[in-house]
Amino acid sequence: MSLNKGHPILAIPGPSVIPERILSAMHRQAVSIYESELIEMTDLLLEDLKRLARTDGYVAIYQANGHGAWEAALRNTLRPGDKIVVLSNGFFSSRWGMVAATLGVKVTYLDYGMAGHADPARLEALLREDTSNDIKAVLAVQTETSSSVHNDPHALRLAIDAADHQALLMIDCIASMGCDPFKMDAWGVDVAVSASQKGLMIPIGLSFVFFNEKADAARTHTTPGQYFDWTDRAKSKDFYPRWSGSPPVHHMFGLRESLNMIVKEEGLPAVWSRHKTLSAAICAAVDAWGSAGTLSLNIKEPDRRAGGVTTINTAPGVGAKIRTWCDLNAGVTLGNSLGFPPSEVEDHFRIGHMGHLNIHMVMGVLGAIETAMQAEGIPHGTGGISAAAEVLAAHPTTGMKD
Ligand SMILES: *Cc1c(COP(=O)(O)O)cnc(C)c1O
Repeated sequence: MSLNKGHPILAIPGPSVIPERILSAMHRQAVSIYESELIEMTDLLLEDLKRLARTDGYVAIYQANGHGAWEAALRNTLRPGDKIVVLSNGFFSSRWGMVAATLGVKVTYLDYGMAGHADPARLEALLREDTSNDIKAVLAVQTETSSSVHNDPHALRLAIDAADHQALLMIDCIASMGCDPFKMDAWGVDVAVSASQKGLMIPIGLSFVFFNEKADAARTHTTPGQYFDWTDRAKSKDFYPRWSGSPPVHHMFGLRESLNMIVKEEGLPAVWSRHKTLSAAICAAVDAWGSAGTLSLNIKEPDRRAGGVTTINTAPGVGAKIRTWCDLNAGVTLGNSLGFPPSEVEDHFRIGHMGHLNIHMVMGVLGAIETAMQAEGIPHGTGGISAAAEVLAAHPTTGMKD
């Protein structure tokens, strides 16, 4: 006999829970792509996406997942043989570098391990040695979804400037946009990529490349090909080239609703602040449980933790046990171990907490995990749920600094 009836919840770090409002907005019959609301809608989507990234630069939308945006960013700015530096601290940062290598780009990794943040001092030292400016770009993720470390893009820009280097700063914001503060222009980011299925709460299938004039100047030396070229997508006044063919109509409806929710209604400072509190509440629960020595937060320093995902390290086998129990008995699907050595595949799990969440959803996930530990006889400290409640109860009434 099972208790597992009712609404299940996907608590993985993307795809995230899709709000009913977005699902309803996408529930439409096909519309004409020749003359319709879509044409003006595209202008407004581009405008509001730029507000989301805090940029007056450009944005190109791709009918692709995050990998498509990764590749688009690289193809527009780099040529085979160009050198880049990838700041690697987990699965996704390494993989972006791997994608660059398939394009013939020469990749140097600065490896910070699975629990370290991208230390700007090491980057600065490396760039200082490159006096001829051979390195064309520095790539980093803002939230590394595998380790749940949060890198600081602004600190990386300051390091590049301190080294008096010309490299472009390219940031993967796929797991952070709409979760953590990001200010593209103020922080001196040249290229930023994001995707639809994490903080933006839309089904997988759209991705975004934001770029400034400096990055666009690199475009004049590259041959990205017709589909990946960001020029028409970002700048054309004509509808058809802007989408490189047929537009992703239903995703556009979803994106419209998402931007209404994030940018127009709740507002970014409130969105950022909400994620910060949810993340802190989850971390408080894990800290309390962890006093028995069976599980711990992967990222120790609170200000290095991501707003949208938390990675938890466990004693051997415990992570997999918790995940399986929650899946089978609680209607809660947790994130798997990603980026750690294969021998540790059962010794980590992740909680996705990005996007459309409230107290009962997050407390439900935490309650399910605590119940799993109870049911499986996994030693854990008491007070996890009340520690989370304390953080949630103290949520500030005003949003983060704009
Ligand atoms: C999810 C994710 C990706 C990959 O996105 P896909 O849509 O699966 O290609 C890349 N980078 C980060 C940081 C992510 O979280």
